This record gives sequence, structure tokens and C-alpha cells, in this order.
Amino acid sequence: VTAAAPLLFVDAAEVVTCAGPAAARRGAAMADAGVRRGVAVLVRDGRVAAIDAPAALRRDHPDATVVDCAGGVLTPGLVDSHTHAVFAAPRAAEHELRASGVGYLEIAARGGGIHRSVRDLRATPEDTLVADAVARLAVLPRHGVTTIEIKSGYGLSLDAERTQLRAIARVAATIPQRVVPTCLAAHEVPLEFRDRPDGRAEYVRLVAEEILPAVARERLATFADVFCEPGVFTAAEARTVLDAAAAVGLGRKLHADELHDGDGAALAVAVSATSADHLAAISATGIAALAAAPTVATLLPATMLFLGRDRQAPARPLIEAGAAVALATDFNPGTSPTLNLPLVLTLGVSVLHLSAAEALVAATVNGAAASGLADRTGQVAPGYDADLALWGVPDHREIPYWYGAPPCTATWVRGKLVTP
Ligand SMILES: [Zn+2]
Repeated sequence: VTAAAPLLFVDAAEVVTCAGPAAARRGAAMADAGVRRGVAVLVRDGRVAAIDAPAALRRDHPDATVVDCAGGVLTPGLVDSHTHAVFAAPRAAEHELRASGVGYLEIAARGGGIHRSVRDLRATPEDTLVADAVARLAVLPRHGVTTIEIKSGYGLSLDAERTQLRAIARVAATIPQRVVPTCLAAHEVPLEFRDRPDGRAEYVRLVAEEILPAVARERLATFADVFCEPGVFTAAEARTVLDAAAAVGLGRKLHADELHDGDGAALAVAVSATSADHLAAISATGIAALAAAPTVATLLPATMLFLGRDRQAPARPLIEAGAAVALATDFNPGTSPTLNLPLVLTLGVSVLHLSAAEALVAATVNGAAASGLADRTGQVAPGYDADLALWGVPDHREIPYWYGAPPCTATWVRGKLVTP
């Protein structure tokens, strides 16, 4: 690998660098995506080596292989920091059911929703889970994505969570993109525990005392996550699980305040979570908590759109309060069946009222921070992995503009070309 010639990216109309500290951009700093014109980018040994005037880089590196950006926009590869991309089957019937007026929690109470995906996953061989996920994720270069977080949470038993996390590890070893694995054993109380009088507490104990320690021991996940929502896990139960995660060295994430305010944002801050995700129903207190903490607010507007809800996370109040906002797809078979992160950027602008620069920062440097990778990816800056996306448009504002049809022409992961 080290013997490969350097790459010199020339003739980009803009290079969106997002360069700066190895941390999420917060508040007003989100508006600066570090857009540069008239520069070339040198990549050596899979990393960004320099950004400078094209003539100087050509002179100093005559051995470099020239990559013609053809007047397009070069950005950091996008980071999708919240997905459930390994699953057994789609849930198209629920899409119609919701449209007819049946609610999300009602569908769950009828054994649909997450329970359905649990049944499906437990009945599916690991090889099939891997092959199906790899096939689905082949679309990532078309969306400019070079890093993707993937959660378990459709196993909900020690064995089935292990199977799902092993499948995620095998996907990670197969696809060219970087994968961040998260254990979401606390996604739902499995039906076999719901029927028992003390079943909820027993399941929380199982997750905290057996599943997370095993997952950490076997290095199957970087993060643990909990679905904190009325009818799923309470803030107190989520706290038990996240404290157990910290005790075994796992990072913390939280599905927080999605449909109802349950003090999820404050809990995420209290346990030093790397991210608090969803937040469509966050309170003013929750906004203030996130504004004063490193925890990234990860917003998932495609989910609320697909659920047919009017309510969206208060992105502007979060940014104006000084919080760090990330955008992700929430790709999953029930409530957000899309890997189209540029479409989420469109929603970021049209629905959440971000600027194009804020939306790009949210899906690059801030997505990287939400994945614990702020020092590795999400910036076009010397020393960073050469995770890049090239877009066939002359202006970065056209990336969220081409609604549903992202103009990405190529990506590079650690300097290696990955095309659609
Ligand atoms: Zn989720």
C-alpha cells in the first residue's frame, strides 16, 4: 500500500474542507464548512498530505497520479452516524398501516414494528444477513458515504445480538467503507420478557450484566445504545444500561426524545454519551443540556417524514443555543428505509432550516464526532484519512439541492477509489 503513487486532486471548483479542530462544530461555527477555491489536494499513503496551490503541488510531486475533479466539488466522504442496516426483511405493510391512521406505538403493541424485525432476524441465517446487507450497502458510493455506523437491536437475546453483531463485523470486513458497530440490545423489551411480571427489570439486567459485558469482551461493538421512550425503556432503565456500558468500556449513544420528551437529552449528557439521537420532542431543558455538553445532537429528519409526522427536531434552536448537530439517515426497515444521506441533507435545509454549509458540516465532521472518529475522518485536512466524495456540480449548495438524486460521481476510502 505504501508503495502506491500519491494522488493529486486538481480542478475542483470547490474543496469543502470542514477543516479545524478534531471535534464537532457547534453553534455558529457550523456555518463555516471551510470552502476553498483554486486549491489542489495531495493524498499519500491513504491520508490527506497537503492542500495547496495546484502549481506548487504539481511541481513538488511530479510522481503523483492526477485525479481530474472536472470542475466538481470535493468534500469529505459523508458519515452516516445512525443506521440499523443489518436486518432480515422490509416492513412495507406497516407503511400503509400508518398511512391509514394506525400509530407507531400501536403497531409495536400489536407485535409489529421492532418485534417484527426481531422475529425476522432470529429466523434468518447469519450468512443471509451478511449477504443482504452487503448488497444493500453497495449503494453507499452513489450517496457519497464513506463511513457508516450500524446498530444491532433486532436480536434482543445474548445469542441473537451476538449473531447480529458478528454479521455487522463480517459486513465491515467485506465492504470498502468504514463501519462503526453499536450494540442496541436495549432496543425493545422482547416479547418473551414482556409476558413475565418482572420481565422488564429482568431484561434490563440481562442487557447490563450479560449482553454488554460479552459484547465488550468479544470486541463486537464500539458503542452501546438504548431506545429511551415511553413504552420502551424509561430514563432510569436507560441509565442502568448506559452505566453498565461505561463500566465495560463501551461508548454511549441514546435514542432520545423521539416521539415524547422523556428527559432523554439530559440523560445522554449525564452519562457523557457521544450522541443523543432523534430529539424531535426535546424540551427547552434538553436543548440547554446539549448546548453545554460535548454530546452531539444527531437529527434524523427522514424518519419523521416517513412516519408522516409534522413535528421535526428543533435544529435551529439547538444550533442557536450552541449545540453540535449531526444529520444521519436512521436507515432501518420500519421507519426510514433509505441510505440516501444527501436526501437527508435536502431535508436538513428544506425542513430543519439549515444552510447548505451547516448540513454538510452535520454529515461530515459532526457525523464523525458522533461516531467517535473526529480525529480520523470527516475533514479534508492534513493527517486525516483520505475519505473523499466528488460531486458533479460546481457549487456545494447543489449537493442538497438535487432533491433525491445525489450528484456524487466517486468516493475514496483511505485514498482507495470506490465508485457507484
Ligand atoms: Zn435508530
